[in-house]
Parts: sequence; structure tokens; C-alpha cells
Amino acid sequence: MRELVCIVCPRGCHMKVDDEWNVTGNTCPRGAEYARAELTHPTRVLTSTVRLEGGRYPRCPVKTAAPVPKELLPRVMAALDEVTLRAPVHVGQTVLEDVCGTGVAVVATRELTA
Ligand code: SF4
Repeated sequence: MRELVCIVCPRGCHMKVDDEWNVTGNTCPRGAEYARAELTHPTRVLTSTVRLEGGRYPRCPVKTAAPVPKELLPRVMAALDEVTLRAPVHVGQTVLEDVCGTGVAVVATRELTA
């Protein structure tokens, strides 16, 4: 029996998963889906910042456009450390395509004028 807290929504249901992958404690089906994924192949949406030149601020907030494998997060962070954007930057603008071969893009999450 494994125990984990659902992070899909702020309710934070406490769940248990037995050896046959039956999930209890979840209030909605998304919790069961999260629990099985978390115990087989955990993924996360990564939020971070990258360097910005020519803008009002020195950094631009970014995130992965979809969840990426949790074990790749350090490599994704290292890839983002190599990125320098030039203002202006638009929300949703692709910062990095196919980050670390995941097929997922990193996108800007803030509008930053020059
Ligand atoms: S199981 Fe459903 S209600 Fe509970 S935290 Fe997860 S998403 Fe929210």
C-alpha cells in the first residue's frame, strides 16, 4: 500500500494505492489518474525564469507547455540556464522547442516590453 497526496487541485486529497492499483481517498477521477501516473512515470510542469536582455527586468518567467518527466527536471533547468531572451517577449512565446528531447516546448508566461 502506497500513500500520496493529490496535487491536481488545492483540495489535496490523501490517497492510498494498493498492490492492484486500486486508488482510495480520491474525491474525483483525476486523483486516481494522478496517483497511477505518479507511481509509474511521474511528470511535472516546470516553472522557472530565464535571462532577459533589453527589458525592464533581468529575468522572464517561463514554464513547460506540458508536464515533462520528473527525472529530467535538472536537465531542463540546465537547458534554461543557457537561454537569454531579448525583449520584447510575449506571453506564450516559445523560449525553447522540444526541451531535452521531451517533445515539450518551454514558453514565456509574462508580457515584457523592451
Ligand atoms: S482527487 Fe480530485 S478533488 Fe481530490 S485533490 Fe485530486 S483533483 Fe482535487
